[in-house]
Formats: sequence, C-alpha cells, structure tokens
Amino acid sequence: MNYEEKIRKIFEKREQPPLCYVHSYGCQQNVSDGEKITGILCGLGCGVTVSRDKADIIVLNTCAVRENAEVKVYGHIGELKHLKKENPGLIIIICGCMAEEEKTTAKLRQSYPFVDILFGTSAMRELPRLLYEVLTEGGFVSDTACRNGECFEGISPVRTDCYKAGVSIMYGCNNFCSYCIVPYVRGRERSREPENIIEEIKGLAEGGCKEIMLLGQNVNSYGKGTAAGIDFPELLQRINRIDGDFRIRFMSPHPKDAGRDFFNAVAECEKVCKSVHLPLQSGSDRILKEMNRGYTAERYMELVDYARSVMPGLSLTTDIIVGFPNEGEEDFRDTMEIMKRVRYDNIFSFIYSKRSGTRAAGMEDKTPEAEKSERMQRLLTLQRQLAEEGYKRFEGKIFRVLFDSEYNGFISGKSNEFIITLVKGERSLIGTMHDVRVTKTHNWAVEGEIVG
Ligand code: SF4
Repeated sequence: MNYEEKIRKIFEKREQPPLCYVHSYGCQQNVSDGEKITGILCGLGCGVTVSRDKADIIVLNTCAVRENAEVKVYGHIGELKHLKKENPGLIIIICGCMAEEEKTTAKLRQSYPFVDILFGTSAMRELPRLLYEVLTEGGFVSDTACRNGECFEGISPVRTDCYKAGVSIMYGCNNFCSYCIVPYVRGRERSREPENIIEEIKGLAEGGCKEIMLLGQNVNSYGKGTAAGIDFPELLQRINRIDGDFRIRFMSPHPKDAGRDFFNAVAECEKVCKSVHLPLQSGSDRILKEMNRGYTAERYMELVDYARSVMPGLSLTTDIIVGFPNEGEEDFRDTMEIMKRVRYDNIFSFIYSKRSGTRAAGMEDKTPEAEKSERMQRLLTLQRQLAEEGYKRFEGKIFRVLFDSEYNGFISGKSNEFIITLVKGERSLIGTMHDVRVTKTHNWAVEGEIVG
C-alpha cells in the first residue's frame, strides 16, 4: 500500500472523517497552493472546515515576502498552542515559503515544539508520507529540500470559490530582483505544459466558472522549457479559444518581458480583460538598476504608450516601492512623474522593508524612515487625486461585473477593467456577472445599477 491508502485506512477507522483547516497567507499563487493542499487532504479522506477550533488538522501555508508578515504568522502559530493542549491528537502543519528558510526549522523546534510537520513549497507531494509518519510514530517531521522542476500536475485543488479560480501556469522565478526573496524560496522558473493548463480551464469553464486568473511570478516569461515551446501570447490565444462564458485575467507580467506581441494578444483576445497590472516599482533608472529590474523608465513608458495605442480604454495598475535603500528626492520625483504620465487606476505601494536573505538587505541605507513615510503620504495623495479625475471617465459607462463580496450595504465586484464596482442588491448576486451602468465615481471605486 502507498501512503495515501495507508492513511485512508487509518482515517476510515475513525467515527468521523477528520476535518482539515487550511489557511494561506500572501499572494494568489500561495492561495492556489493552499487549494491543492486541501485537495491532497480531501483525497486522504478528510473533510474541510472553516473553523480552526473544529479542525483535526491545521495547515498554515505561510508567506515570506515581508518580515513583518512572518511575525504575524508566528503569532498565529503561537495561538495554536492551547488548541493542541485541549486536543493532543490535533496535527499542526506549517508549510509554504517560510518553510524554505533555514532559520524556520530551528525557530519552530525551539519556540513552537507543538508543531508536527514542516514542509516547503516544493514538497507538497510529500504531505501523505509526512502525515503517515506523524500518525504512526508521532514526533516532528519535516521536508524542506528545495526541488526544482515540479509543476504539481495531477493534484486536484479544492477551490474556495466556484465562480472564480486561480490557475497556476508556472512556478518559481529567475529574476532575482534585489529586494525579493521569492527566487530563493520558490526555486527556478518552470512552466506547465499548455495542454494541462487548457484541460484544467476547460473543466472550470464547463463547471460554470466565470473568471480564470492565470498565476505566475512572471507570467509573460511563460513557456521556457516546455515541450510545446509556446510563449504567453500564444497561451492566451489558446485559452481564449476555449468555449464558455468566462473572462481571463493574469497576475503578474514583468515589464522586462512585455513586448508588442504580449499587448497585441491582450487586445485581440475578447475574453481577456482589458486591464494590465504592470509593476513599475520605481520611476528612477538608478533605483531600477539597483533593484535589478531589467528595464528603464523610458522603456516602461514605451510599453504603456504602445499598450494604450492598441487598447485605448486600457486600465493600468501597478506596484511601487517607496524608500528603496538610498532613494533620493530626485529618484522619488521620477516615480511621481511616471505616475502622472501613466495615470494608473490603482496602485499597490509599500515602504521598502528589509528582507533578510536578499541582496538589498546588505545595502547600506542612509534615507531616514521619516522621509520615507513623508514620501509615501505624497505618493498616496497624488494617486487619490489622479484616480479622482481618472475615474470620472467611467461615468455613464456600462461595466461587465463579477460580484464577489458585500461591502458597507453594497454588493461589490470587479469590472473587466478591474475597477471595484458597487451596486445595491441581494447577496445572491455574489458569484454572478452583470452589466452595470456607472452612476457615481469615487477615487477607489464606482457605484452603479444593474442593467438588462
Ligand atoms: S519578478 Fe522580481 S519581484 Fe517578482 S517574484 Fe521574481 S524576483 Fe520577486
């Protein structure tokens, strides 16, 4: 018998199937991994619970992108101590990016000895073996060996939502941006074969899924090393040809790998949303070089201009890091200048925080924290002002919206342009798509009414 069969036999002897609680931190790729981990546990005979207190197996699928995110995770691990005391049979599993860091094993053993299993991002398939060892022998087991080359085919995820789904098209990253830990904890870039991606999406579309989010650390570098040898624009074209009433998004492309063929594909594929998240990070060439981003501000603007020439209504969003080591006032002004030229519909901005294990962590930084905070306030003020003006162009427009949540008495969703859209309506709208006429705009969302 393999480990899966052995565990199923153990669980079958219980009065009730054990319940698993899986919580993923961080990015959508991690959420997608968490859905696969839930799938593995369900395949072993577990049920799923959304209540940590009712669980027999608790999985915390961690994120290592920011050090303060790690502090939060350790706080949550600490909260599990009393649950383990009340229920010594509870199995506590820590996995994800933090598990790949050398210091994690020692820290868990020293301060959180009630954790049973630790496994890294590339050891997901080892979960049945690790679980079997704990179920039969007890003690702490771990597998944090980084294995490159795994694309986790054949693992059926248990998805959180049935109307929108994240589909990983690639794993890992080769870019080594100097502030980023991802290449160290998720390994080198590898892409799934297109036929596996297409089969997965066909199944989702047939099941009524309305939104497919293609996931990868650098999606437009997709395809290297695949037998099919196709690139991201070709993949988009193939997915676009799949029958069904669904829309396609992707997260995130990298400016250095974005060429005209990429924007042409987004423009031509009618199922692909006309919104692109194009991470800028900084508008200063000096800082971009220090970040190892592989493009200049001018090249970035060429991309934006070309994208808008083939998609005049294109909505753009971005990521910006404020206060990278030794960012001067001039560098910061360059970032503000790009913001004024592009006029993003939304930005995700962060004050730089040192991430140990990265190249930037070793850079001496003379910029005072107060100065960084003050720049961040100026950046946010500018963005609010630009969005206030920019969102006015949506007045009277018809948006196609997929509703996904409740917000302050409204039902909230995202339009094809990735604009938060609020309507008055019933909760039953969640999971459905409608045309909405925009009646009012804010600097972060629009309000409207369903038409047709
Ligand atoms: S592209 Fe850069 S920021 Fe993105 S995951 Fe790779 S190294 Fe990190």
